[in-house]
Amino acid sequence: NRQVLLAKRPKGLPDDSTFQFVETDIPEPGEGEVLVRTLYLSVDPYMRGRMSDAKSYAEPFKVGEPLTGGVVGEVVKSNAKNLSEGDIVTARLDWADYSVAKEEYLRKVDPDAAPITTALYVTGMPGLTAYFGLLDIGKPKEGETVVVSGAAGAVGSVVGQIAKLKGCRVVGIAGSEDKINYLKDELGFDAVINYKTTENIREELKAACPDGIDVYFDNVGGEITDAVISLLNFHARVAICGQIAHYNDTEIEMGPRFLPYVLKHSILIKGFIVSDYADREEEGMNALAQWLKEGKIKYKENIIEGLENAPDAFLGLFRGDNLGKQLVKVSN
Ligand code: NDP
Repeated sequence: NRQVLLAKRPKGLPDDSTFQFVETDIPEPGEGEVLVRTLYLSVDPYMRGRMSDAKSYAEPFKVGEPLTGGVVGEVVKSNAKNLSEGDIVTARLDWADYSVAKEEYLRKVDPDAAPITTALYVTGMPGLTAYFGLLDIGKPKEGETVVVSGAAGAVGSVVGQIAKLKGCRVVGIAGSEDKINYLKDELGFDAVINYKTTENIREELKAACPDGIDVYFDNVGGEITDAVISLLNFHARVAICGQIAHYNDTEIEMGPRFLPYVLKHSILIKGFIVSDYADREEEGMNALAQWLKEGKIKYKENIIEGLENAPDAFLGLFRGDNLGKQLVKVSN
């Protein structure tokens, strides 16, 4: 049983020395527990925060202990009442070939409803994040303009599609031509900006949003967000979902300097964590599952094979390697 441990806390961008591989015995499930064989592992930007010991909403990973993340796996031994061998389940489990978990901690995945990997994407944490952040904070109305940064990633790709379903003009910001083409041609975004090649992101955004911007779903922060803020309409809503451009900063820049603009335009800016909506999870899951079933939400996955490649898959999030959800296939 291979496990991936946090070897040391990274300063700045993590690298190979952040991770350590060890071999352990396959754990034995206790009373009410099951043994889960990992099939797919999700790598997520928020894990960078848990590698630090700074105070945050999620408890820091402990040095010398396994990293944990979203897993879809198969029950291979069960001492639990409602789970049997062969069941497919999802939960936050170890980065490992096998994990033991209590029954109440696991959610069963129906392999006939949709491919099991979607439990880590459209009908999992990223989908719920998109759903609640956009609908509860952004409150998009038909005909409004919605801008989403990190548009081709797991959360952003779902945000843009829900905004289209609500009848909005949707403008995405992403970092490669492949991503731009995918968002325009396959997901139906109205306009997409490549922030890596544009000469002036603000001017391009202004041209793409002739009626200004009513809703901004922010996955990245930094200069992209500065440009968006200055184009927001009166009474615009901003959902601060992620700030990946800052996750590896060693010092936090204080600010923001755009508050006079926010004041003059009566803008709402609200940060949120998907777990704020834990009591409405069922509602979100049902809506997302329905859209997925009807083909109204499409998705692409970037799948890397082998637990040994999980650290690099994680680091790839900061390079922008992934189109859609980044997953690691651990076993068949
Ligand atoms: P993604 O699938 O979007 O992967 C990360 C993407 O971020 C990369 O593909 C890359 O795309 C982009 N990126 C990386 N570095 C930068 C940078 N410096 N500037 C701009 N873009 C960058 O990840 P997720 O969909 O899982 O997460 C998206 C965001 O949402 C993250 O910030 C994450 O922390 C946050 N999040 C928040 C949650 C919450 O509860 N609030 C829950 C889940 C996620 P590109 O090629 O376009 O640069």
